[in-house]
Amino acid sequence: MSYRDSYFRLLVEHSTDAIALINRQGAVLYASPATEKILGYTVAELKKIELSDIIHPDDLPIQLAVLSDLIKTPKKTITMQFRIKHKDGRWLWVESSSTNLLSEPILKALVFNFRDITERKEIEYRKDEFISIASHELKTPLTSLKGFAQLLNGIVSKNPKQQKIYHYVTKINEQVDRLSDLVNDLLDVSKIQSGKLDLKKEWFLIDGLIIEIASDMQETTATHIIETQLDAPKKICADKYRISQVLINLVSNAIKYSPQGKRVIIFSNSAQNGVEVAVQDFGIGIAKKDLNFVFEKFYQAKNKIRTSFAGLGLGLYISAEIIKRHHGRIWVESQKGVGSTFSFTIPTR
Ligand code: ADP
Repeated sequence: MSYRDSYFRLLVEHSTDAIALINRQGAVLYASPATEKILGYTVAELKKIELSDIIHPDDLPIQLAVLSDLIKTPKKTITMQFRIKHKDGRWLWVESSSTNLLSEPILKALVFNFRDITERKEIEYRKDEFISIASHELKTPLTSLKGFAQLLNGIVSKNPKQQKIYHYVTKINEQVDRLSDLVNDLLDVSKIQSGKLDLKKEWFLIDGLIIEIASDMQETTATHIIETQLDAPKKICADKYRISQVLINLVSNAIKYSPQGKRVIIFSNSAQNGVEVAVQDFGIGIAKKDLNFVFEKFYQAKNKIRTSFAGLGLGLYISAEIIKRHHGRIWVESQKGVGSTFSFTIPTR
């Protein structure tokens, strides 16, 4: 073996990530020592095992589909997370990256790179569970708090002698609403994570909904003018409540992140097989390096005036999930210091 070969062999054999080579028929040709460390099987044992013996039954169909897709496409790489059975019977979560190098004469194999991510998955699971339990537990006392605050508001608002108390009760109501919004966002996140974000679709005019929301949101701001430039006079079949949620989120972000800008414009257009809606602001904008991440859970860009904007970084994540569930697309164009335009499409049905 040449110096170069030994060099690469040493690298592969001492890598903590496992590397396995599998042929077109699914037989294991090579497995690096880390494979045994992770899965407990020796290479000889691994060579006798069928994928269906060790891949979790819930993950197997998708794994087989991915594998057949991979085999058809030379040089393609696919990254997956799935459960695999350790020799001692435990289920492990692994993250794998597989590349089709069947056309490479030296290898003639599918290359699997994988690592154990069980611990990371458990932490993620506990975090999701905590979000779900905490948001459900917070919801009940909050609903009752809102009920009493509203009752109190009704009582003191009628009495001219209690204007000071009325002022404070109004503040309590506003803060309870803010708290409710945060808890509702957390509840939506746990619904998304457990696949329970159900859509209640109905036919409605998108421009009608935009007009309604623009007027409601105008009531909430004394600093901005919400304009509309609408050209989608057609009905779509979608979840009106959830689409409203997306619009409200985009417009409130547009206001929140444009302390100096006065205008927010909502556009609509008839797109092929649906509608396209955009919300434009002339605010602080988003740096290029943050653009790809703003739709991620809990992501908040390091916008300079960040501290004055309370939020959990969930609004855009939830909006993106809602649009995805409608088979639409959501994206952002932005320039730092100039402004941002968030757009989405919704198919007609
Ligand atoms: P939140 O506003 O609660 O932080 P979002 O998910 O709505 O969460 O937004 C994520 C991040 O994207 C924000 O923290 C902000 O940095 C950035 N962002 C969203 N909308 C805009 C906008 N219109 N202009 C500038 N930055 C924005």
